[in-house]
Amino acid sequence: MTDAVTMRSAAHDLLTAAPMALSAAHATPRDALVQALSTDLARGLSTETAAELRAVHGENRLREAKPTGWLTRLIRQFASPLVLTLLGAAAIAIIVGLRARDASPWARYGDALAICIIVVINAVLGLVQEGRAESALRALRSLEVPRARVYRDGRLSELSSVELVPGDVVELEAGDAVPADVRLVTAVELAVDESTLTGESVPVAKDARATLAIDVPVAERTTMVFLGTTITRGRAKGVVASTASSTELGRIGRMLAEPATQQSPLERRLARFGRNVLWACLAISAALFAIGVIRGERGWASLLLEAVSFAVAAIPEGLPAITTITLALGMQRMAKRGAIVRKLPAVETLGTATVICTDKTGTLTQNAMTVRTIWTDAARYAVDGEGYAPSGAVRDSRGAECNPIPLSIIDLALSGALCSHATIVEDGPTLRVIGDPTEGALVTLAAKIGYPGAVLSRRFVAVREVPFDSDRKMMTVVTRSSRGEIAHVKGSTESVVAHCTRVATAAGTRPIGPPDVERILQQADSMAATGLRVLAVARNDAPGAEAEQDLTFLGMVGVMDPPRASARRAIERCRQAGIRVVMITGDHALTARAIANELGLSSQGDRIVSGPELAAMSDVELAAVAPEVTIFARTTAEQKLRIVRAYQARGEVVAMTGDGVNDAPALRTADIGVAMGRSGTDVAKQAADIVITDDDFATIVDAVQEGRGIYRNIRKFIYFLLSANAGLSVAVFTIALVPGWAQLTPLMILWINLVTNGLPALALGIDAAEESLMTTPPRAPGEGLLRPRELVRIAVVGTVMGALAVCMYATSLCAADVREAPRTLAFTALALAPLVHAFSCRAGDRTILEHRPRVSAALLAAVAVSASVQLIAVLIPPLRPFFRTEAIHAMGWWMVGICTLLVLPAHEITKL
Ligand code: ATP
Repeated sequence: MTDAVTMRSAAHDLLTAAPMALSAAHATPRDALVQALSTDLARGLSTETAAELRAVHGENRLREAKPTGWLTRLIRQFASPLVLTLLGAAAIAIIVGLRARDASPWARYGDALAICIIVVINAVLGLVQEGRAESALRALRSLEVPRARVYRDGRLSELSSVELVPGDVVELEAGDAVPADVRLVTAVELAVDESTLTGESVPVAKDARATLAIDVPVAERTTMVFLGTTITRGRAKGVVASTASSTELGRIGRMLAEPATQQSPLERRLARFGRNVLWACLAISAALFAIGVIRGERGWASLLLEAVSFAVAAIPEGLPAITTITLALGMQRMAKRGAIVRKLPAVETLGTATVICTDKTGTLTQNAMTVRTIWTDAARYAVDGEGYAPSGAVRDSRGAECNPIPLSIIDLALSGALCSHATIVEDGPTLRVIGDPTEGALVTLAAKIGYPGAVLSRRFVAVREVPFDSDRKMMTVVTRSSRGEIAHVKGSTESVVAHCTRVATAAGTRPIGPPDVERILQQADSMAATGLRVLAVARNDAPGAEAEQDLTFLGMVGVMDPPRASARRAIERCRQAGIRVVMITGDHALTARAIANELGLSSQGDRIVSGPELAAMSDVELAAVAPEVTIFARTTAEQKLRIVRAYQARGEVVAMTGDGVNDAPALRTADIGVAMGRSGTDVAKQAADIVITDDDFATIVDAVQEGRGIYRNIRKFIYFLLSANAGLSVAVFTIALVPGWAQLTPLMILWINLVTNGLPALALGIDAAEESLMTTPPRAPGEGLLRPRELVRIAVVGTVMGALAVCMYATSLCAADVREAPRTLAFTALALAPLVHAFSCRAGDRTILEHRPRVSAALLAAVAVSASVQLIAVLIPPLRPFFRTEAIHAMGWWMVGICTLLVLPAHEITKL
């Protein structure tokens, strides 16, 4: 009596939904909890109740860490060596200004003010770009919200886990991320990885029927599974006890494991490169200063200003911000094409992939399964019908409809369906499967012969199960009905037949002998050779504790899973791009080969290696044969890992797809782990670098193309910025050496570096990844960002650009009509020449005439805007004092034009 009272009060606490009371769910008996939460184990909540509860409990989402305030982020923008150098320059300019007492205030402090304004603008732009990059990443992360299988209004449906409320009845299976704190109702062989919550690294077994005291610690609450943990084995059904911040994870205030925001190797390399450039510039500046002091022609203040100007000219200020935004926008573009990047380095690694190891089912094929052939001891039959629609006749070998359906087929179809968990649901006008599509095909077959899922679940109750495991390649469900307990088994023919002691025939069952086994395996081969996925079905009418013993072989089904139309073209693109495609499948070798042939994947002389063969090979032998193999069949997850390592040992960069719990180690080891968004388990997704939302092989290839594009774009804008900086540095350096020449002001230099060059660099960074990127072999992983010949070209173009500006400066000094404006001329030429040069940079190694992709509207717009602001700075008289420019006469404009245009042929010639 006392116990009952305690239980009731625990349930009552749940009803009132006080977060503290929710900790009692583990000790509350199942039925009391169900009653307290006013739910129904078979039907779940109604949509209306769920909506009301959601209004009370809110979204099932943990609070995000408070974003850093804008002020802190703004201040962070100033904490770069670059900005500090610029501020140092401003300080020097102020000191210089303090000494020039006779000059006007603007002449004394204009430079310092201008540098400060530029620094502030740069910080604000940095803040905005960082914000954009962050929101792009956040949007990507939100695409990753796991889905939950929930009963609502009596139907099983798939919802975003955000929509869960206490009282929801959910199904869980191996590979799922647990979407809330769930009180288990039934659990079969359930084990959960709770390391995120309790630190326990070994999966914990769960037991829905255990009776627990109220005060057992979280780590021992075997009747519960908790938000943030993952199911590693088995399946379960349970009631959501608490959501969001009321969960154990929420209460301890920890965040769900999120993809860490790392810097990509590229960003790290660029940061290092930036620092090196900075030090080199400062060293040259110091040298410039020292030369001036030794020559003793000018005061130290003006020498210092020269040195500062040089440093400002040579440092590519715009580089870090443009890299960040290019990567972020590139990832957003990838997401639009169906590839969500979870780990930033993958963007870069994608472009170096030399081998793609791909699953067959669902990736190269449609994962839309239909039973086409049935084989029982008596004969072979064909099955009509499309997809998961429950209509279609069974025909004998002469094509005549079987009416009535032979008993052997009914037995086979019923056991197949009873050993399945898939549910077929209506999705608009079409039918969709929730669960494993292979099982969906078996459920559909049973429905076609008059046994829809609803009828079966009324007559048979599942009592035990040995879950499917892609290593064992079979599974068993024990049901109870008026006929007592029966074990239904399905799996690969080799696995199932190995557990059979009898075979069903038209004349009843008899012991199975070697000739039977041989005949069965031959039949399986002949079905597989036509591309069918073969499943054998067996049964034990009196299972003991060991359900998979003494089975009676019932027959086999051949399931059709057509290849994806897009896969053939994608495989061809890989071939052109120098990427090897290797199929790794748990399926039969002959099924795999038939599909590979249809897709043009295998060619003469290629090898198929099967799991048992692979098991007999050493790692060295495996690495030796790897280049000849196109198909690994009947593999286990552990073998996937060996295959990745074998290719890596040969120096290949491996992308590997996976979907199951057991695939996680291979996904982590591969250079690029690719998880399937639809069929993949949450565990696989968490281990992967990239998630493909549509499971399509073609999307992986698209992602490679985008990855190559992003890297190429980054290379292009770096090349562009460095060559423009080189030109500027050469001019500033030379002007500094000639006594009496007026140096470009720091404002002019920063203006060119950040404003007029910034926009075209950004436009180069977001250029589209065109198909031609997939006609060259992958780049070598260790290859530097810029090749030696590109560095030479930068030096040549920089020298030409700088020399032209200096020549013009000298000429204009002599020409009477433009005498007052040599510095303005050099400033304008150095601002406009890179704009023309940008088009040449976009063409890459090819000359601008050979380069044929569509005109880049972004680049045209960027160049137009940059040219306009430059002209405004020079042409509008009120702005001249600010920039310290002069009016340019007609002759000067001619010179600027020629100078600007000459850079183009100079650069083009270096390409030849
Ligand atoms: P991949 O996706 O790697 O191409 P796969 O999906 O064919 O391979 P598995 O799912 O491991 O690989 O399946 C291997 C074999 O196990 C199949 O050929 C089939 O015979 C059997 N099998 C597949 N799904 C089930 C299932 N749900 N129940 C029982 N047996 C299954």
